[in-house]
Amino acid sequence: MVKLQQNVDAIRISTRIEALACCSSTSIGVTRLPFSVESTAAERLVEEWMKAAGMSVRKDGLNNIIGRYEGKDSTAPVLMIGSHLDSVIEAGKYDGILGVITGIEVVQTLRDNGIVLDHPIEVVGFCDEEGVRFHSTFLGSKAIAGTFTAEDLQRADEQGITIAEALKGIGIADPYAYKNSSRTPEELLAYLELHIEQGPVLEKENEPVGVVSGIAGATRFSFEIIGKPGHAGTVPVAIRQDALLGACDLISYIEKIAFKNEPLVATVGKLTVSPGASNVIPGLVTGTLDIRDLNVERKQKAIDAIFSESERIAKARGLQIKFEQVMEADPVYCNEEMIKLIEESISERSGSVITLVSGAGHDAMAMADVTNVAMIFVRCKDGLSHHPDEFVTVEDMGAGAEILYSTVIKIATKQ
Ligand SMILES: [Zn+2]
Repeated sequence: MVKLQQNVDAIRISTRIEALACCSSTSIGVTRLPFSVESTAAERLVEEWMKAAGMSVRKDGLNNIIGRYEGKDSTAPVLMIGSHLDSVIEAGKYDGILGVITGIEVVQTLRDNGIVLDHPIEVVGFCDEEGVRFHSTFLGSKAIAGTFTAEDLQRADEQGITIAEALKGIGIADPYAYKNSSRTPEELLAYLELHIEQGPVLEKENEPVGVVSGIAGATRFSFEIIGKPGHAGTVPVAIRQDALLGACDLISYIEKIAFKNEPLVATVGKLTVSPGASNVIPGLVTGTLDIRDLNVERKQKAIDAIFSESERIAKARGLQIKFEQVMEADPVYCNEEMIKLIEESISERSGSVITLVSGAGHDAMAMADVTNVAMIFVRCKDGLSHHPDEFVTVEDMGAGAEILYSTVIKIATKQ
């Protein structure tokens, strides 16, 4: 009799996601900050499920949780899969978590089918990706990639508690133990992450799963538009130097530039108007500009165009417009060979292959400093994320886990 191959269990994935959603400090949505009571409760569940799937489990010096499923050759480089266990404030249930739970499901399915791959598989739940508590992203993956620093230990939360102190609070007495977290390029075969899309493309294309070509680079500026305040009733419109009208022109132009350079995205997310009174002409506007693209050259051209238009606006309206760059993150390109294997897995499952650029940052970005990375995106309802209404169907979770399962087999099998 031919033994039937076990498939991934979508119901089990969904049940576990629901259980983890209860590890939250708020009743609305999921709030699970790193090194908290809620995160410790979540880790306990994850550890239990990893063990049930046949993995040996350990925590590293920065409290990343790592389950290992041995390969035929235990000295061969490791294929790491996973995502993050922390959340934003009042988040959804799937962001991060889905990558960890489907990773465990993949290993459980391998074990149930009696499959041992050439390379060891490690499923990782990173302690902190969102950066909500300590205002710095990718803490867990940076520790593994070896880019977490001693200065990072002194980052403090709103209560003034540093990372070093928070680690002590959960029983990691030696803060420098983070150094043991780091892995060398030789130790790792690759890093593969499944994550919800957090955008609307897959839903529009009517596909449950897509492959990521890369994570967009981001440049962030703060800007200042200086005009001249005056009496709203007495200064004729023709001679005003209204900073807010300059901001309107600038923001409209930024939208135009983004449309012209799609898939580039540009956002003015914050604006303050001074003095901010109903009867005073705005004399000063400050704001932020966030601009992202996988294509560095196209992004730079768009920035240059925005700068030269801002000069024109300033001249036309008698204003001063100043930009200051506050952040620059390079794009990360996913590994071509891994992309091909994900595409094969999607095609074999009879889906058409949708390729996406990630506009959001992910742990894969930090892991790219130490190894090749690739990402699988799973459709979410209305593209909504970082919100209590974030939603993924059980069928889509199952589809994502199946693609992850077959991709892991392909990657971890020696050619
Ligand atoms: Zn995430």
